[in-house]
Amino acid sequence: MRFSKFILSLVFLGFVTGIFAANNLVDLVNTLQGTNSTFELSRGNTYPTLAMPWGMNFWTPQTGENRNGWIYQYKATTIRGFRQTHQCSPWTNDYAAFSLMPVSGKLQVSQNSRALSFSHANEIAKPHYYKVQFDNKITAEMSPTERGVFMRFTFPQNDDSYVVIDGNSGGSMVKIIPAEHKIVGYCKNGNPSVTKDFANYFVIVFDQPFENSGTWQNNSGDLLPNNLQAEGDYVGAYAGFKKGAVVNAKVISSFISIEQAERNFNNELASAGSLEVIKNNAGQAWNKQLGKVEVEGGTAEEKATFYSCFFRSMLFPRQFFEYDQNKKPIYYSPYDYKVHEGYMYTDDGFWDTFRAQFPLNAILHPEMHGRYMKSLLDAYDQSGWLPSWSFPGHSGGMIGNHAFSLLADAYVKGIRTFDAKHALEAMRHDAMNKGPRGPSIGRDAAAEYQQIGYVSAPNHGEATAKTLEYCYDDFCAMQVAKLAGEKTDEAFFAKTIFNYKNVYDASTRFMRGRKSDGSWMPNFDPTAWGGAFIEGCAWHYHWSVFHDVQGLINLMGGDKNFTAKLDSVFTATNKFNVGTYGREIHEMTEMSMINMGQYAHGNQPIQHMPFLYDYAGEPWKTQQWSRTIMDKLYNSGPDGYCGDEDQGQTSSWYVISAMGLYSVCPGTDQYVIGSPVFPKMKIHLENGKTVTIIAQDNKLSNPYIQSATLNGKPYTKNWISYSDLMKGAVIQYKMSNKPNFKRGILPGDRPFSVSSFEK
Ligand code: CA
Repeated sequence: MRFSKFILSLVFLGFVTGIFAANNLVDLVNTLQGTNSTFELSRGNTYPTLAMPWGMNFWTPQTGENRNGWIYQYKATTIRGFRQTHQCSPWTNDYAAFSLMPVSGKLQVSQNSRALSFSHANEIAKPHYYKVQFDNKITAEMSPTERGVFMRFTFPQNDDSYVVIDGNSGGSMVKIIPAEHKIVGYCKNGNPSVTKDFANYFVIVFDQPFENSGTWQNNSGDLLPNNLQAEGDYVGAYAGFKKGAVVNAKVISSFISIEQAERNFNNELASAGSLEVIKNNAGQAWNKQLGKVEVEGGTAEEKATFYSCFFRSMLFPRQFFEYDQNKKPIYYSPYDYKVHEGYMYTDDGFWDTFRAQFPLNAILHPEMHGRYMKSLLDAYDQSGWLPSWSFPGHSGGMIGNHAFSLLADAYVKGIRTFDAKHALEAMRHDAMNKGPRGPSIGRDAAAEYQQIGYVSAPNHGEATAKTLEYCYDDFCAMQVAKLAGEKTDEAFFAKTIFNYKNVYDASTRFMRGRKSDGSWMPNFDPTAWGGAFIEGCAWHYHWSVFHDVQGLINLMGGDKNFTAKLDSVFTATNKFNVGTYGREIHEMTEMSMINMGQYAHGNQPIQHMPFLYDYAGEPWKTQQWSRTIMDKLYNSGPDGYCGDEDQGQTSSWYVISAMGLYSVCPGTDQYVIGSPVFPKMKIHLENGKTVTIIAQDNKLSNPYIQSATLNGKPYTKNWISYSDLMKGAVIQYKMSNKPNFKRGILPGDRPFSVSSFEK
């Protein structure tokens, strides 16, 4: 009896470990991807994020100083803390950050004196587990929960052992409770999107008594006489432990209160007896998400790149909710600064992410996406404006009303967790009004745009970029109105969807800045950045007619002119004119470095352009360029991106392109076809269905689609619908090293353009 039970459990163990080994995708992820970045040159501007999928709090080793956006730089040689972070990019910097740091020997609390040297050879950086052994032999390890982290510090035998808590400047408090081996407190380091009262309340529980403890203040790390509590602009604490101790610290926080942080602690960390429990849970959570896409074939580096990018596509938007005593979601709203019931998500700039991040989420994570869409309207109700760049409240950064794109994309795809009338009311409001603080809240130059059909330069910055993006956003709003049968709203938004034509200059064959009297801005240079554009030039913005590529083709005099211009993006000089920026910004450097002419994959405006050949009878060029870009401009290492990663957008570009798809026009149900990376891919949908993509003879040198079938039937279209994917599908391609000049060239094969459907 005993024996057979033993055998059974062995079989069971083998089964479990076998499955686990086969699906241990989290080990393929390198969280150091993109960390070799500086102010001057971004290779991703990422940090080694330790987090649960869409976790409320992330964690990272910190090499840079507090309040410096470059939290972790690959070239750095010392770490000064293990930080809770909410950073989207160094350009936004962080908020609500605090850190812990082990110290041995002499007590050092200030962020400069406590920094310890390390080398990457002694570092493991995975989504669910980070470990570093410092040169002085202290080992630090951590694994995440959704709101907390389990840290383990192993100290050398012969030196005094301390853990320092750094509350950061910008307002902090610490309170030491020795009887419970506990330190509670808050940190703020907020930003203008929240009030002065905003705080991040933390609870830190150690597994053993303190030998000693105390508080400190200021960047210089001055020890304070009151050794149990401190509050001020910048305070911290420390706790001492036995020599050679192995110290476990459970750390968690709340945006609501210390009491809620305690509740979060009980929900996520209290019962965990060891780091391994949390590590295992977090690994499984990641494997569950990463396992939504299984790949076969391809090189080891292609797999590592794919899963590293896939990981980064599942960090933002950030869950901004917690669970109350009844396990119901509640949240501190960064929009009205009150506590509400329900789900809230934040930390996302739609100017970047409407393009690929959310269309990818619509396929892979529709439940979460639906919750997010509802929370956008909650944010509108609470603040009077739809979010555009939330961090965590309205930051106002960048331009456009791309919440329209998100809402329309969800609605068109049947994700209807929100009321269309309510969404239309919000969209109409934002299309007609200029918001406070920053051009992405409401609509800059709203009245003029309605009146003359474009935003005029030079009195409005980024005028032509705004015109193009408003025009697309209005198309998205129109889509919602149309599907919801709201005729008045449909007519209202339909008026402006062709406004892109008003900024097209036939004499230069570019989109161009236009004055309010109708004349063009003088001294046009298509390589000049800024001016009527933002973070790009006319070469990049020419293509921002997502909803009407056919209309753009018509404006340019037909397919041949259009594809010749697409070709010339890649063959033009890679030189740039710094334009109104007045200096070289990193996006310019990055465009020049990749040496693909004016193609600037390091920033968002042109990222869809390689897929536009699908609209003009030359789909093989889309196939070739999308493969070339994936191969040349991405890898799984510290130089893994060719510019800012940007809250999942540049990663999602890779993930969706590796599926052989791309979302040129979110707000329609179409994904255009590129060229899949792997010979076989299985996409497991939340509805239980599977999309299988088989690409026979696929390899880098065979990027061209010879023929395709969908569910066994010949398929000539250059796009596939969301509904065809969601029903479950088998897509089969025959790949080759030579283009098939006959496939995908008929008018009926072209993806959606509004001009093709509405005369
Ligand atoms: Ca960017």
